[in-house]
Amino acid sequence: MPVADPVKPEGLAMLFVYVCPYCQNEVVLVAPTRPMNVTCGACRNAFPIVPVDERTVQYVMTILGDGKAAVDPSY
Ligand SMILES: [Zn+2]
Repeated sequence: MPVADPVKPEGLAMLFVYVCPYCQNEVVLVAPTRPMNVTCGACRNAFPIVPVDERTVQYVMTILGDGKAAVDPSY
C-alpha cells in the first residue's frame, strides 16, 4: 500500500462543556441547539441544559469554512 498524502479536514463540530450539578463532572455535547435533558456519564443523574444559539454556531462554522479555513497554513 502506498503512503497516503495527509488528509485535510472537511467538516467541523463545535463542542460545548456543561458541568454536572450533582458531581461537577464535565459533560461534552456537540452544539446542543435544543433544550434537552442529558445524563451525566459519571454519576448517571439527568439534568436539563440551556441550549446554544444555532445562528451563532453557524456563524463560527462559516468563518472557519467548515474547518478548511483553520488548516495549518504551512500545509
Ligand atoms: Zn454527574
